[in-house]
Amino acid sequence: MKLFFKIIIIYLFFFKNLLGVEFIGKFEQGSFILGKTKPDTKIKVDDKNVRITKEGYFAFGFGRDRKNNVVIKINENGKIKIIEKKILKRDYKIQRIDGLPKKLVTPPPEVYKRIKKDNILIGNARSIDSPYDYFKNKFILPVDKYLITGVYGSQRILNGKPRRPHYGIDFHAPEGTPVKAMMDAEITLAENDMYFTGGTIIFDHGHGISTLYMHMKDVSVKVGQKVKRGDIVGTLGKSGRATGPHLDIRLNWFDVKLDPAGVLKLK
Ligand SMILES: [Zn+2]
Repeated sequence: MKLFFKIIIIYLFFFKNLLGVEFIGKFEQGSFILGKTKPDTKIKVDDKNVRITKEGYFAFGFGRDRKNNVVIKINENGKIKIIEKKILKRDYKIQRIDGLPKKLVTPPPEVYKRIKKDNILIGNARSIDSPYDYFKNKFILPVDKYLITGVYGSQRILNGKPRRPHYGIDFHAPEGTPVKAMMDAEITLAENDMYFTGGTIIFDHGHGISTLYMHMKDVSVKVGQKVKRGDIVGTLGKSGRATGPHLDIRLNWFDVKLDPAGVLKLK
């Protein structure tokens, strides 16, 4: 065992020095990974150029069903190194939710236009690649007292029909509970009444890392507004497709949906 750890330490030592890059986060499905390198380094993750802060921080992540290895290409002043890592598989829960109004499980055709418009607004906000470096800091919980009633990745069966998996964490608390920003951000979406998500906020933390709140009762921020970690941004509700009052939070790396439990140390 001792030898094993020695090898690991030697490996890490070489790994760091040889490649000039460090990672915080587990290489598994749904993970957010914080990277650190030298500021003048260029990094590609799965062939996508990632933005690097002037201190050398960068961010990326893996989706719920990610299967193939991740390939990280490091270009240090023309010296190219490639890291390929396996992504660990996770087991997800099955969650049954009954008693949802039918129109919320299978939306009637007259709301398709509205749903499409909502999706475009959400998609646009999530595609922003801003230079903010807030994502490298410690996130805080959005509510003080809560019960977790939904987790990332769970397969949902709504009124007996298998549906898309759940990508957020549900915090159950009384309606009207103040809700806080988990991290400094610029608000890139603030809507009172989206079809599925109800009162919805998107926070841009930089480099494509965003968080999203849904089902809010009141939204008290505006697009373009800057918020600090801990600022009250509205109140918890049950708007949109919700069976009861709860705050559903999401963490994204652009269009990739990540598990917020990682940054909130809930896991
Ligand atoms: Zn939810």
